[in-house]
Amino acid sequence: MVGSAIVRALRHDDDVELVVRSRSELDLARQEEVEAFFRDERIDEVHVAAARVGGISANDRLPADFIRENLAIACNLVGAAHDAGIDRLLFLGSSCVYPRLAPQPIPEEALLTGPLEPTNEPYAIAKIAGLKLCEAFRRQHGRRYRSLMPTNLYGPGDNFSLEDGHVLPALLRRFHEAAASGAEEVVVWGTGSPLREFMHVDDLAAACRTVMALPDERWDTVMTGINHLNVGTGEDCSIRHLVDEIVALTGYAGRIRYDSAKPDGTPRKLLDVSRIRALGWAPGIPLREGLRTTYAWYRDREGDAS
Ligand code: GDP
Repeated sequence: MVGSAIVRALRHDDDVELVVRSRSELDLARQEEVEAFFRDERIDEVHVAAARVGGISANDRLPADFIRENLAIACNLVGAAHDAGIDRLLFLGSSCVYPRLAPQPIPEEALLTGPLEPTNEPYAIAKIAGLKLCEAFRRQHGRRYRSLMPTNLYGPGDNFSLEDGHVLPALLRRFHEAAASGAEEVVVWGTGSPLREFMHVDDLAAACRTVMALPDERWDTVMTGINHLNVGTGEDCSIRHLVDEIVALTGYAGRIRYDSAKPDGTPRKLLDVSRIRALGWAPGIPLREGLRTTYAWYRDREGDAS
């Protein structure tokens, strides 16, 4: 989802020649393949969007996969980029790198100040390692490796799996299918009270362009005492509110049951985005509009979904 959005954002830029590989062509978890790729292509700038991602259930069920693959991707790409003499790299992390009970909205300085949310700790540890790799290569070798920590993302290309997806695509699909079949009840995981910030992936792609276009002098003006930058909308809503929006969109008319036996995850995860706003980027896609276009994208491909 994220890589495709970055490609959409850069496709029409005459100054950019995109070098992309599908997962089947290049396995980023395999060090030799990544090294050969960087050796053979003359790449100037790397965007690390690839990751093993999933919702609260997938993270809980597959902790070994999440830490192993994400550590490998981060280590292989950052290390091989440096070895190949590539000076510019953007690493994408996640808002779950912050402590479970971080102050809200979460400033960049909250990193490593407290225990992580247990439901996604393996994934978060891998992402923290990735941003620290960038920081270390910048400090030791002067590389211009930058890190962005995006909030919860959604949009075209999302994983609409009912079990393994994040809340927004999973519920879009669940309510869509319930409306189509005339089901009388839909179950939503958790209490509905957790607060989440949702950003359309095209807004993230625009942020990536803004950040990578900044000269060092400008970047350094906001990066005092930190080496990673938050990106989000600056607004959050409850899962219950998200459900209301999705019910209105899909036309579902039955009952909704909140299953508090399922985990809520972290109670709130709102990023402080004042730094990236000061650099001139702002989100442009309101949640309601983003939900509408993402739902249209999903419906166009219905039947292809797993
Ligand atoms: P998180 O932001 O890392 O916690 O990841 P998710 O997007 O998976 O979950 C966000 C919140 O939505 C949690 O409180 C979940 O319990 C809740 N939720 C409600 N229904 C669902 C669902 O069908 N799928 C997922 N993934 N989460 C759900």
